[in-house]
Amino acid sequence: MDRRDYGTYRLYSKKTGINKGKRNFGLFRERIPLTLENIFLLVLPLLLMLILIPPPKEEAADKPDILAEENLEPISIVVFNNSDSVIDKADLEEYLIGVVAAEMPHNYNQEALKAQAVAARTFAISRARGLYGSFSEHFGADVCTDSSHCQSWISKDEFLESRGDEADWEKISEAVASTKDMVITYEGQLINPLYHSNSGGATENIEAVWSKLGEVPYLISVYSPDESGYDEYLKTTVFTWNEIKNKVRIKYPNAEFKEDPAQDIEVITYSGSGRIKKIRVGSVEMEGTEFRELLKLPSTNLEFSYPDEKSVEIVSKGFGHGVGMSQCGADALAKKGYTYKEILEFYYTGITVEELRY
Ligand SMILES: [Zn+2]
Repeated sequence: MDRRDYGTYRLYSKKTGINKGKRNFGLFRERIPLTLENIFLLVLPLLLMLILIPPPKEEAADKPDILAEENLEPISIVVFNNSDSVIDKADLEEYLIGVVAAEMPHNYNQEALKAQAVAARTFAISRARGLYGSFSEHFGADVCTDSSHCQSWISKDEFLESRGDEADWEKISEAVASTKDMVITYEGQLINPLYHSNSGGATENIEAVWSKLGEVPYLISVYSPDESGYDEYLKTTVFTWNEIKNKVRIKYPNAEFKEDPAQDIEVITYSGSGRIKKIRVGSVEMEGTEFRELLKLPSTNLEFSYPDEKSVEIVSKGFGHGVGMSQCGADALAKKGYTYKEILEFYYTGITVEELRY
């Protein structure tokens, strides 16, 4: 006898037993007096159901939101084009293709291009929502096309003229389309996804570059291997001592200098990642970032040598401010098999890559 038969048998026996031994016990065998107490007992389960089952109102409230998401218009972005000083409204995803095309070499690994697309998308939306950056710096537009302020951007025509062919543009478009709506968040908020060309081996804490912005938990220095194979890793520039003195005098007309540059250039402090934090040039003390800007150097990770008394050789490591994702590093990691999400998680500490919540 299997269990099912056994159950049926028991049920049958039980019913039989009840009917035999306790006649007139069941509901249908005895009239129930219509007292207030009995009415209450009958109504009680209905009351409990009303209390315990969630009201259908909530479901109804969710529905319009879901529909609204499905019916959302494509996100648009207002872009100030620095090259022709024109403000234009563009479809976000279309704009992003131009950003990735301008910001990253198209021959980089596809996962690196995807990481770049997600960082660029997060950058644009976070600025459109006023989380970071400043509208006033480009006449109210969400973003501009100046790479030193926002993100570079080029049109398809410009790209085809100078950088690549249709297949290359298609490769970039695919990187943007395949990550559609994906953004980077930290504790539920869109991050400020700063990025740069080459870290020179380690990225930088944000406060070391922009002290006003203070510490940001996801923009902290990380060791970034395998970037030495890229052209942007190392650059040697030779200046005459006069050139340097003149560049410093533009900003500090009263600066005084000695004859020998070796005595007049002194690194005072370094940041944790090995970049110059403070430097003295003649009688002037300045931030490493300021020195980099004055001499138009690729980075603040610098080493000085003096081929003769009248010249200064500066070897710079890395390219860019060094904060957040390194683009060369992203490509290097992608070649090692990292996915775009893993690349972003590598450079932005503790973040989440997720679909944009409207
Ligand atoms: Zn801008």
